Amino acid sequence: MCGRASGRVLQRHSGRVLCDKCFREDLVTRFRNEVARYGMITPSDRVLLALSGGKDSFVLLDIVKDIHDVSKVGIVTVVEGVEGYNRVDDVAWIVEASRNYGIDLHLTSFKEFTGYSLDEIVSLDRLRKLETSPCTYCGVLRRRIINYHARTLGYDKVVTAHNLDDEVQTYLMNLLRGDEGRLIQNHPLSSTLSRYFIKRVKPLRKIYEWETSAYAFMRGFKFQEAECPYIRFRPTLRAVLRDYLYEVERSKPGSLLRVLEAIDSYIEKELLKKASNLVELPQCSVCGSPTAYGRSVCVLCDLLSKIGVNSRLPF
Ligand SMILES: [Zn+2]
Ligand SMILES: [Zn+2]
Repeated sequence: MCGRASGRVLQRHSGRVLCDKCFREDLVTRFRNEVARYGMITPSDRVLLALSGGKDSFVLLDIVKDIHDVSKVGIVTVVEGVEGYNRVDDVAWIVEASRNYGIDLHLTSFKEFTGYSLDEIVSLDRLRKLETSPCTYCGVLRRRIINYHARTLGYDKVVTAHNLDDEVQTYLMNLLRGDEGRLIQNHPLSSTLSRYFIKRVKPLRKIYEWETSAYAFMRGFKFQEAECPYIRFRPTLRAVLRDYLYEVERSKPGSLLRVLEAIDSYIEKELLKKASNLVELPQCSVCGSPTAYGRSVCVLCDLLSKIGVNSRLPF
């Protein structure tokens, strides 16, 4: 791009070799373009970054702090509580960074929100021989806690660090399951189906996972990502698709970008209008949280009541 510094990154999807500076500029430009294209973040928005502590979190914070007024930025970090998966150390850099940039940090945990860590929840589940995947509890609870903070603290948007690989996997999973409703919900222009849900945006959705790794590495991020011991319970379909997509991308660089754009445009043309007629989601009869159409009790209340935990959590 600059014709000066020596190249360090081969960006196979664009066929270019970039120096560190140009690589960073390219990522930031694509980030900004995606934000502008879908109006993800407007200058007046108070945004809450949902950061887990990994490299994608690092990249998200590193870019947002430069392009948005930091007095309108907050961070929420949820520690799940999994033995041997040292999340407290993983988030130390978030505590330090939030202090350095003057950003409000809301550091919380499953234990604080429900009275139980994820490990404790899983053992209650095993005690009752339910064999629910830990990832089910984890996903539902994390979403609840993040939305609760965004809503009660008056944020306009929740910003997550999902990358291109994550997003293509999710689209394909929903396509393969024939789940049109969820397919639409992953599109940046889909509307929230309840006034209690804060809109989630994903400005890294067109950045490859290898690119967030390279960016984090160049910016001196200390990789210490331990693998979650519950990984073997992760939905197998996602794992299968991830490996398959790696192969496709390897033989035809740029495939993931093209798939994402094709599905985006199909949803925009064919499905979004249909979804705009949807009525507000019903509320859970136990906790009051919005819940899926046709449900009277939300998934979280359902899960927790089965393991004997007080489910009347705030939402
Ligand atoms: Zn350059
Ligand atoms: Zn509920």
